[in-house]
Amino acid sequence: MKKILFTHSYFYKFDPKQWRMKQPFPPLMTIIAAALMRESGYEVELFDTCLRDSEIEIIPILQTFKPDYVVVFDDGFNYLTKMCLTNMREAAFEMQKLAKREGATVVTCSSDSTDHFEKYLAHGADFVIKGEGEITLKELLIAIDHKHPLEDIKGLTFLNKEKNIKETVRRPVLSDLDTLPLPAWDLIDVESYRSVWKEKNQNFYLNVATTRGCPYKCNWCAKPIYGQRYNSRSPERVVDEIEFLQRKFDVDHFWMCDDIFGLKPGWVQSFDQDLKRRGIKIKYKIQTRADLLLEENNIDVLLSSGLDEAWMGAESGSQAILDAMDKGTKISQIETSTRILKNKGVKVGFFIQFGYLGENKQDIQKTFDLVLRLMPDHLGISVSYPLPGTKFYDRVKEELKQKANWTNSDDLDLMFGNTYPRKYYKLLHRYLHNRYNIKRGFLTVGSLLKKPQSFSLRKIKRILSLGLHVPRAWVNHLRLYRLEKLVNS
Ligand code: SF4
Repeated sequence: MKKILFTHSYFYKFDPKQWRMKQPFPPLMTIIAAALMRESGYEVELFDTCLRDSEIEIIPILQTFKPDYVVVFDDGFNYLTKMCLTNMREAAFEMQKLAKREGATVVTCSSDSTDHFEKYLAHGADFVIKGEGEITLKELLIAIDHKHPLEDIKGLTFLNKEKNIKETVRRPVLSDLDTLPLPAWDLIDVESYRSVWKEKNQNFYLNVATTRGCPYKCNWCAKPIYGQRYNSRSPERVVDEIEFLQRKFDVDHFWMCDDIFGLKPGWVQSFDQDLKRRGIKIKYKIQTRADLLLEENNIDVLLSSGLDEAWMGAESGSQAILDAMDKGTKISQIETSTRILKNKGVKVGFFIQFGYLGENKQDIQKTFDLVLRLMPDHLGISVSYPLPGTKFYDRVKEELKQKANWTNSDDLDLMFGNTYPRKYYKLLHRYLHNRYNIKRGFLTVGSLLKKPQSFSLRKIKRILSLGLHVPRAWVNHLRLYRLEKLVNS
């Protein structure tokens, strides 16, 4: 039986901001691919990099397991892998080289390798899978084992005998996701993940994917794997997986790691009914859009099935910037959906980005006003990041010669020219966090004065953080003011 060592390139410890959050998720897509290959007759093993310190830890596994194939298969459900961070790219290159040194055939599949296959081929990959990977991987390894020609396998890039890059036609995405096996959770040391979450005394979440893709067209959002396609698993199959995870690992909090959860009409209703029929109670968080959360009836079904937290790409408080992004949402929709969700007890998270092309001081002020007016429960702030294949990237690509990728997710470098200098946008991110935390601290003081019995350690920490954020807000405000003066002079 041929052996495959699976791995992936996301090291939480190479991404300090994410590691500080202590919320790691196992590489879900990697273990779906591993399950498929095991089902196809291969012996599989996993070198899970998420909680590892270094790429070289793969060496002893290469030497003891002696794989025929090493497959670097990123978890495309984890949005961090879509950021194509150079720390992770270099880790992938290093593992590819180490695997080659041990005599394995190396196959790589990720968003970054889809965009930059020539770089991966130059750093040790024998094959790069472009787009959705599972079926291509299966066809490729079977073809290699049976010495069949590779040119007919869709979604593949490799160097031919003449050392020229050979690209086959793109593979259409899978429409029936239920044909894939359940993820090979036995390859994951779930307890080591749980212990990281517990370091910060947080509820432990596991990740479940119910769909692949997103049909919307936000013009900065990279979609190298699925394009505009959106396919759903059946609710029954998803509930099978949740039931298994609950029974096996005693977990009842889940991150539905879809780009957009529950878009297919009737899906959430069936999901809710199936959970109820089997007596399963869970809490879950989702990523969604403001315009999908306007109907009270729809939110009630989400709530009934266990929705606890909804993250939406609010992006900006300026309608002009939302329109420039082709976001397709209205500020009024962000306001209405936030109000409805909060009234129903669902926690709300906003993704905000600064620095989109053309954003001026008034637009920035509107974003501050939106956040401080609506006060979401969580805030994720970033800076516009051009990724290949997007309209946004095409507009600024000439300016990306020096630097085209972030090193880690806290890099936040604005890599193209805009209204203000680069460091302004990093400061904006910090300043909004300061202002948000100050307001939250004062709101907490107010709520404790009204209801002293609602006292908790978390609330005390929020109030104490005022001592940190008030002086920092002043300093950051001053630095922003000076940079504005410089630009306007
Ligand atoms: S809705 Fe979200 S996932 Fe879909 S295109 Fe927009 S940003 Fe991307």
